[in-house]
Amino acid sequence: MFCSNCGHEIDDRAVICPHCGVATKNSGMPVTPESKTNTLAIVGFVLSFFVSVAGLACSIIARKQIRETGEGGSGFALAGIIISSISIGLTVLIGIIYGSLIGLMIGGIAQSGVV
Ligand SMILES: [Zn+2]
Repeated sequence: MFCSNCGHEIDDRAVICPHCGVATKNSGMPVTPESKTNTLAIVGFVLSFFVSVAGLACSIIARKQIRETGEGGSGFALAGIIISSISIGLTVLIGIIYGSLIGLMIGGIAQSGVV
């Protein structure tokens, strides 16, 4: 078989790669390296604080990529989705409140006969 880390051909029964020292699948350790974090997940997480819509889009794509590749960073992606969703929800809510307040004001002015 071949080492999943360095790609050298190693003995099929080898537990640790003699070339790079990384554990093989024979060692019973998970083959996917935990250290590799999906970049888009971090980008989406950071963006969710500033540009909610872009953060949400990046986080959703990152979660899809993580599911397919088994990369790390699903926590980041999930946090990005939650934070941007709350942020978008609050923006919409504030917009509705402001909109109805302005509507009430206009309605009140019209009813009072000032305009
Ligand atoms: Zn190796």
